[in-house]
Amino acid sequence: MNTIECRLCRRIETHLKKLKIKYPSYHCKPVWGSGNLNSEICIVGLAPGLHGANKTGIPFTADYSGLLIREILYELNISNFFITNVVRCYPQNNLPNSDEKNNCQSHNVDEISKLQNLKVIITLGEVAYKQIIKLYGMTCSNKKFQHGNIIRLNERVQLISSYHCSKLNMNTNRVSKTMLKKIFLKAIKLISHE
Ligand code: URA
Repeated sequence: MNTIECRLCRRIETHLKKLKIKYPSYHCKPVWGSGNLNSEICIVGLAPGLHGANKTGIPFTADYSGLLIREILYELNISNFFITNVVRCYPQNNLPNSDEKNNCQSHNVDEISKLQNLKVIITLGEVAYKQIIKLYGMTCSNKKFQHGNIIRLNERVQLISSYHCSKLNMNTNRVSKTMLKKIFLKAIKLISHE
């Protein structure tokens, strides 16, 4: 596990200290990306869930979104992936502010630059979408977030945008497991056509 400390976000740091007192067994620290650095697929979410990644220290584990996405990956036999979040600490009320999002961009650059075989980034939700678009030097003004859109980021890497696999999005039928599976099937197709 990555042991780099990060103290860029004072509001989050204070909040995580309080959470650690409330939940002593929880990780309550930055949650770094996890998976195979040789992967062609990178999945990018928003931020650790309070009782998920913030508890375990591993992105997309122990909560609804994590279990759903990992079930989909298992069902599609996708085992070689890297998974991370655009914000690495659990933010108050699950809502990072713009400073916190900006602060984490340097970590996004670091992690993504380590993925030498990267071909497809799947962004889950609009925040992740916007941060990755910015990271590749593009602006969102002419590239509105739309579920299922494919955007070329450079000569090697393409982005597939997806709604987030949150309980709220699933319960309100904004997204379904079938819709999410289609996103991953698109990723498989893009990779095999390269
Ligand atoms: N767990 C994560 O790690 N990220 C999310 O965006 C949601 C749950």
